[in-house]
Amino acid sequence: MLVRKNYNLKSLNTFGVDARAKRLMIIENFDDLTNLTDSSFYREKPVFFMGQGSNVLFVRDFPGVIVLNRLMGREVVEEDDDHVFLRVNAGESWTDLVDYTVGRGWGGLENMSLIPGTVGAAPVQNIGAYGVELKDVLDCVEVFDLRTGNLEMFSVKQCKLGYRTSIFKTDGKKHYLVTSIVLKLNKMPEVNIGYKALREYFTQNPVDEITIRDVSEAVKAIRRSKLPDASVLGSAGSFFKNPVVSAKKAGQLLSRFPGMPAFDTGDRRFKLAAGWLIEQCGWKGRREGDTGVYEKQALVLVNYGNATGKQIYDLSQRIVESVHEKFDILLEREVTVV
Ligand SMILES: Cc1cc2nc3c(=O)[nH]c(=O)nc-3n(C[C@H](O)[C@H](O)[C@H](O)COP(=O)(O)OP(=O)(O)OC[C@H]3O[C@@H](n4cnc5c(N)ncnc54)[C@H](O)[C@@H]3O)c2cc1C
Repeated sequence: MLVRKNYNLKSLNTFGVDARAKRLMIIENFDDLTNLTDSSFYREKPVFFMGQGSNVLFVRDFPGVIVLNRLMGREVVEEDDDHVFLRVNAGESWTDLVDYTVGRGWGGLENMSLIPGTVGAAPVQNIGAYGVELKDVLDCVEVFDLRTGNLEMFSVKQCKLGYRTSIFKTDGKKHYLVTSIVLKLNKMPEVNIGYKALREYFTQNPVDEITIRDVSEAVKAIRRSKLPDASVLGSAGSFFKNPVVSAKKAGQLLSRFPGMPAFDTGDRRFKLAAGWLIEQCGWKGRREGDTGVYEKQALVLVNYGNATGKQIYDLSQRIVESVHEKFDILLEREVTVV
């Protein structure tokens, strides 16, 4: 296990903001986990788990220990005529994993191509894109419980996965370190191109028989055209969640804003597009100092170079306030603010 003191996290978060951790611990194998229950480690609280830092915003230095998960490895743990059960350790790159499964012809992850980050963070906010969420392909999650020092297996139900949330982002965020996940992948995959942007892509780029490789390539092309490359422009992807409102509230808003996108969630509630709401308030493409709202997608806040985490947070707060004023909707941050 590697330990670093007073460590600058700038290269470890995709916003590229300056912040120091009092201590950084890098977990590289399962034996390292025992150090996390060591009494000297507990004196160093608070603790924050991290993967590739693509969904965090540091607004100040961190006064405790950052635990960086670098547990590598993957193996097929079960297989039948239809499915492959693939166990993947938490430090693996999600995008590499998707490419690997698509390359083997195992379906399930292709719509989630090119989402940055580690495998271990995927269940934390139940990552999703283009009509598929992790919960659709997840079999179980292994965690290390800091309180007991034991590895435990969580069923999908125990993970309490929801829209960009789970037990690992809420009640369990201080003590459950995700160490590996098991995915149930399809050996005879059916493609899912129900999402509007994907349907449009294949209308413009027709293919005789669409494969999961085609879907993966389509998702990558769409994402590259809409989202900033984190190695060029600092961001954490979507900064806010899409708000879900009652049918009554959606109806009231639609009568005032007939062009507003609203998706029926099937339980008398509607999901609204946070990006659209932000754009209507005039934020899209606006720059304030080194912070700004991405010109191609209003849901994405960016760091043009030397913005501090506090400046990005303050910008997000002004956006929250103006959306609240215009639509009476309180946007919730998807990004974990530390
Ligand atoms: C350009 C861009 C596009 C994006 N697009 C999408 C998208 O389409 N869909 C989507 O869902 N997300 C998207 N994201 C957000 C991000 O990619 C995901 O949330 C990803 O899963 C974060 O992985 P990470 O390893 O970087 O996690 P980090 O940012 O390091 O951590 C994120 C959260 O997970 C916790 N965590 C991390 N690892 C562990 C662990 N092993 N055990 C317990 N807790 C842990 C952290 O404490 C933190 O709360 C995007 C981000 C960027 C920059």
